[in-house]
Amino acid sequence: MSRNPRYDILFEPVTIGPVVAPNRFYCTPHALGTGNQMPHTRAAMREVRAEGGWGVVNTGYCSIHPSSDDLPLPYCKLWDDEDIKVHALMVDAVHRHGALAGVELWHGGSGTGNRMTRMPLVSASGISYDSSYPGWMNLAQSRPMDKKDIRDFRRWHVDAAKRAKSAGFDIIYIYAGMNFGPYQFLLPWMNRRTDEYGGSLENRTRLTCEIVEDMKEAVGQTCAIALRFSTDELLKVPGETMESEAHEVISMLSDLPDLWDVKSSSWVRETSSARFTGQGAQEPINSFVKPLTSRPVVGVGRFTSPDEMVSQVKRGILDLIGAARPSIADPFLPKKIDEGREGEIRECIGCNICVSGYHDCVPVRCTQNPTMGEEWRRGWHPERIAPGDPESNALIVGAGPAGLECARALGQRGLAVTLAEASEELGGRVNRESTLPGLATWARVRDYRTQLIQTMANVDVYRGSPLSAQDVIDFGCDHAVIATGALWTRQILTTEAYPITGFEGDNIYTPDDIFAGAEIESPVVIYDFNHYYMGSCLAELLRKQGKDVTIVTTANAVSAWTFMNNELAEIRVRMIELGIGIVLEHYLTEFSNGSAKLMSIYRDRTVQSIDCGSLLIVGSRKADDDLYQELNSDPDRLVDAGIKSLRCIGDCQLPGTIAHAVYSGHECARTIDTSDTAVPIRWERPELLINP
Ligand code: ADP
Ligand code: SF4
Repeated sequence: MSRNPRYDILFEPVTIGPVVAPNRFYCTPHALGTGNQMPHTRAAMREVRAEGGWGVVNTGYCSIHPSSDDLPLPYCKLWDDEDIKVHALMVDAVHRHGALAGVELWHGGSGTGNRMTRMPLVSASGISYDSSYPGWMNLAQSRPMDKKDIRDFRRWHVDAAKRAKSAGFDIIYIYAGMNFGPYQFLLPWMNRRTDEYGGSLENRTRLTCEIVEDMKEAVGQTCAIALRFSTDELLKVPGETMESEAHEVISMLSDLPDLWDVKSSSWVRETSSARFTGQGAQEPINSFVKPLTSRPVVGVGRFTSPDEMVSQVKRGILDLIGAARPSIADPFLPKKIDEGREGEIRECIGCNICVSGYHDCVPVRCTQNPTMGEEWRRGWHPERIAPGDPESNALIVGAGPAGLECARALGQRGLAVTLAEASEELGGRVNRESTLPGLATWARVRDYRTQLIQTMANVDVYRGSPLSAQDVIDFGCDHAVIATGALWTRQILTTEAYPITGFEGDNIYTPDDIFAGAEIESPVVIYDFNHYYMGSCLAELLRKQGKDVTIVTTANAVSAWTFMNNELAEIRVRMIELGIGIVLEHYLTEFSNGSAKLMSIYRDRTVQSIDCGSLLIVGSRKADDDLYQELNSDPDRLVDAGIKSLRCIGDCQLPGTIAHAVYSGHECARTIDTSDTAVPIRWERPELLINP
């Protein structure tokens, strides 16, 4: 197939200072959870995007000096010449595919922790940012920078830029955004200086301007200098001559940098999930930039639709289509558009599981792309997979995300695949969960897979086919894969936080009951000790149906785990806006006669009662694995039926996120013909100094 001419504009080269991006697809800097500690993993995770057609591939934030240390969060660094080779590995990998490699040089100022280096934090005026950011509190205040500090600060940028050039980078960033380093000078409330670096906007912009000039002089002949700038906060500050100070900063520096990368000042807002914002949500904060500069402008917006990308360029919003999440979900997105296969794009669902990977300090994982993070250590490619034996056949029972991914990948490997699903619809839990408020995009997990499966002549799908163990035996396949999912339980917690059997009686429900259409009586108490999206999504759903809803949770926040994927604050706001009651840090101990008893989790053990017409327990899930257990209990029966392998995958193996189910299905398909499923994995190892 060939490219739709409508999308030609996306494949135009873009000149960025002394270098030329081969097209408009631009992987903006974003953390991968690898840092310098996992150079091979990192290089492979970036390389796959270059191979997939992204014209520019950047690093994540890269510290220029030990006075900007972000551990335990995984960041990369260019502190000395020894660090160059880690980056060169990635640059060479990106260059192999004709893409440009960029590095996001970063100094956090007071917006980091220096927990490992124990150096004092520095900032424009000693005003700290982030020290009260729950979860990553560092308790450290910052020291105002004196003139020597400012000279050092400029020199560190130049030294790091020279190292970046030695590593082979084509684009080198200055990070003046998101409350880091130079950005703290730009903000009037962070900068109270009375010298030439404070006061007027011109003075506050001086340091950023100097660093751009220094770096241009040092490496600008061969490397493009990009300026990453957060616009939203200064957009709210009226300018002297223009609408806002953001307008004034851009027009003051206008053509000085070779590229403007414009973004939000808050990572939470920038990575807002699909539950809260749609594609292109950053437009209000970046659409004003292009008229103020002749340099190319890049910005993000969770773009997965090529038509929306074209619109961004044609309407003069962006020159380069920035992407982090869409490039994680589908590293081959540009190639698919180029080859007229845009229908095969594995669209990001906006769930932010990738963000949680970074907070977990592990290589980011993705709900849609199970190969993300496994490129090097397991040798997984997002598009290619080793062919299997076309003479062998597999029966997959259950067509949720695990079964669908397993069927798709086994189909791609060329096995004869039969997929049996009890209900009339493929998709399993995704069918139900994508009906929750804000989660419609989650149906993409199903749609991407069913669409491809439909085109595979070697995959047969049977709907309305609940299989018993005898059915599986009678079918007589080489490989039987059980993907029958999990069910929500009525378990509650003891007051010591151990799960126990829940209450018996009427008006007690689980999420499965709600999805099955149970009519439940107001007022509703949702007892949530699952801590992810389900409790707050159901609260929203029921509230919008007009019911009085209170969430009771043992945690210190509603959907407390979502601190990890950046949804926490937006969920809280949504709960407040909808008038949903919130009781934090309490166990539920009794439910009877229209009332629920709650006990504080703390030593005071105070008890309160609230009205409760229906109790909805969002706690734990149990694998629906009876079929698997029956088959697994009788190996002779399997041998007699000619079944060589029996696997249990997804929620049926271990209830978890959709990302876990997709990964599990994919892993099964990759390894189904190996006797040992724990296939060897390569691990990164620290390099020991020969002569310390
Ligand atoms: P996962 O997330 O692991 O893919 P889901 O719960 O989403 O799990 O999907 C499990 C699917 O398995 C559901 O669509 C369910 O209807 C189906 N299923 C459960 N038991 C059987 C069975 N005995 N035969 C066929 N399909 C089944
Ligand atoms: Fe998109 Fe979710 Fe994948 Fe992140 S984890 S890239 S949000 S699909």
